[in-house]
Amino acid sequence: MSEDLDWRIRTLASNSGPWAVIADKRVLVLCSNNYLNLTNHPLVKKASIDAIEKFGAGSGSVRAIAGTMSAHVELETALAEYKRTEASLAYSTGFAANAGLIPQLAGDGDLIISDELNHGSIIDGVRLSRADRAVYKHRNPDDLSRVLNEAEKKNYKHILIITDGVFSMDGDIAPAPQIVELAEEHGAMTYIDDAHGDGVLGEFGRGITSHFNIEGRVDVEMGTFSKAFGVVGGYVAGSRDLVNYALNKSRTWLLSASHPASVVASCRASLQVVQKEPEHLRNLWNNTRYFKEGLKKLGFDTGSSQTPITPVMVGDSSKARRMSEMLFEEKVFALPIIYPMVAREKARIRTIMNAGHSSQDLDYALNAFEKVGRVLGII
Ligand code: PMP
Repeated sequence: MSEDLDWRIRTLASNSGPWAVIADKRVLVLCSNNYLNLTNHPLVKKASIDAIEKFGAGSGSVRAIAGTMSAHVELETALAEYKRTEASLAYSTGFAANAGLIPQLAGDGDLIISDELNHGSIIDGVRLSRADRAVYKHRNPDDLSRVLNEAEKKNYKHILIITDGVFSMDGDIAPAPQIVELAEEHGAMTYIDDAHGDGVLGEFGRGITSHFNIEGRVDVEMGTFSKAFGVVGGYVAGSRDLVNYALNKSRTWLLSASHPASVVASCRASLQVVQKEPEHLRNLWNNTRYFKEGLKKLGFDTGSSQTPITPVMVGDSSKARRMSEMLFEEKVFALPIIYPMVAREKARIRTIMNAGHSSQDLDYALNAFEKVGRVLGII
């Protein structure tokens, strides 16, 4: 692999922000998915500590053998209530949920239709399936409709439409109501990966189905506890039949150890916090508006973002890398997203807001962006 594509890994000697310690420097973090700052919430941390005392450090087994503890079941009950679905199932990660379930939902004689910018874990899940595949243009219901009309001619047994809820590189939102309508019209199933919508969109952060008022109309709601909920772990939520099917078929669930109870207990505590303390969500969106407007006022192009993921468009990959290095020198930690993660001319610095950033923090970041942006001739 060319050296130019290698990741430069930074090691944190602290929590993941809003400020972190890296190489003995205190830096403002703009690249963590810890949207609501729940990794640092006292109740979320205490839940893990208490669970370790009660259940031990590890789970000892896969869920289907001896690895299901009351903490796992309590999380799934609480999550289904929060998501307003019949049931839910926790996986070790979001990646494991996509890679384990997608290939089981569509096989020989079926078709999977994906948005062209879906996350890599969806792409890998689709690759593990024997189903035919088709792609529609990014966030384009007309193109999805074209693909569905083409598919009618082939008499597929099942059609599964999969989309990210919030797209992780651009921060734009899938046109979920139109997708659901088209699916209903064509008898297709829908699967939404809400990894970046969970805790961020909708009432109490219930996600994209709440944001668009389409609760109960998406067959599979998939998500993660690793981002806004501040812990780690994937899930699917939907009907009891879906969950029974998922747990009997997903190889990533059946053949891989369950989380220690400490992890699921913290996930459950996060669900309680987001419903009892709406101020974190409010802060996140206030910070998002403030920072986006600040960047725009400075003359930066922030792309098509509608969420706390805000790209700062740079264009050339080596310039984006240089910008990230220069920001780091200014004690701002923000990562470049470069080719081949995005198209060659669309390299950017991706920023992610955190509810724990103060307005002084955001002014500090904006000053650094202004200074570096001017030196590089971006603004
Ligand atoms: N889907 C999307 C859209 C994501 O951004 C991510 C995380 N990068 C995942 C799935 C995987 O989630 P996890 O980190 O829990 O494996």
